[in-house]
Amino acid sequence: MNQTPTPPGPPRVHRAIVLETEALSPGMMRVTLGGSDLDDYPTTGSPDEYVRLFFADEPTAEPRLPRVVGRGWEYPEGVAPAEMRTYTIRSHAPGRVTIDFVRHSGGLAADWAERVRPGGAVGLSQPFAQFTWGELPPGRLTLVADATALPAVERIVEETSPETELRIFCEVSDERDARLPEAATSRSVDTVWIYRAGNGSHASRVADAFMRAPLATDGSETVWIAGESAMTRRVRTHLRKTLAFPAANTHLVGYWTDNEEAWRDRFDALDAATHARLDTLYAAYAAQPGAAREAVLDEIYAVYEGAGL
Ligand SMILES: Cc1cc2nc3c(=O)[nH]c(=O)nc-3n(C[C@H](O)[C@H](O)[C@H](O)COP(=O)(O)OP(=O)(O)OC[C@H]3O[C@@H](n4cnc5c(N)ncnc54)[C@H](O)[C@@H]3O)c2cc1C
Repeated sequence: MNQTPTPPGPPRVHRAIVLETEALSPGMMRVTLGGSDLDDYPTTGSPDEYVRLFFADEPTAEPRLPRVVGRGWEYPEGVAPAEMRTYTIRSHAPGRVTIDFVRHSGGLAADWAERVRPGGAVGLSQPFAQFTWGELPPGRLTLVADATALPAVERIVEETSPETELRIFCEVSDERDARLPEAATSRSVDTVWIYRAGNGSHASRVADAFMRAPLATDGSETVWIAGESAMTRRVRTHLRKTLAFPAANTHLVGYWTDNEEAWRDRFDALDAATHARLDTLYAAYAAQPGAAREAVLDEIYAVYEGAGL
């Protein structure tokens, strides 16, 4: 890790100002944020740290910033909550934060990244760490990702120990979206790019590519998976059910759901008994530690599979 975590002050939603925007590739917009309210902006030091962005009603308008409550947030009564989306911090420097947005149609955040101009404001929560990188077991680290997880992949390449052998499977829409940072040239990184795949515009193929590749199941390999939820679920099922891969060596996060509106309609249409079963399972999931949690997640995903979700 090359960044020292900043000691946390009381968490708040910062008012960040857009310094510049840049089209990195056909599929990715970069937005750099700064302004005086980021002078004390912290970092967790975790390369896949994420933030919540609170958007104004229009890119030129002022965002309504909530008050932080625990890991959540709230607005005073009568104030309409701002739209919120979750993104990875691609890079962090004192007073400056960079975020890379996948370009896609019909997305509030994606549209904001295209339309906002320098001087525009957005609410930025404190960063949250995900995987406990300090406890990364020695051996190979395999990353399975789509374009939404590429910013995190790039930071992992830059910030994990060069002794860690890295293997990356990543699907993008276009050859020009395939991008790794300079640090990839000075360490062992084996990369499999899958083009015209996943990312809402093509069938996803990254799980298949990963599943065809050899994998060490003796604890000497760790797998980090992030991206579209059906893809991450498929990889998880393969790891757990087919390979009995150790849960302690797996870190998996669903970043988004393809065609979410249709998914939500199918979810809402589930019968009352299935909703009640899922509520019970989610409560159990929240209450359980480690391995027991994974078993509850198996059950949740089995319900999804059974319901065609
Ligand atoms: C921890 C975490 C970190 C993340 N980091 C990043 C990041 O660094 N960069 C990034 O781009 N995304 C990242 N995401 C994913 C991002 O939050 C979602 O893609 C989000 O839905 C985008 O918001 P939106 O307003 O553009 O689209 P929404 O309004 O949420 O969705 C509108 C429609 O667009 C579709 N859609 C959403 N995202 C995509 C996509 N990527 N491609 C194609 N269709 C899509 C939905 O299915 C829906 O039909 C991250 C998510 C998490 C949970």
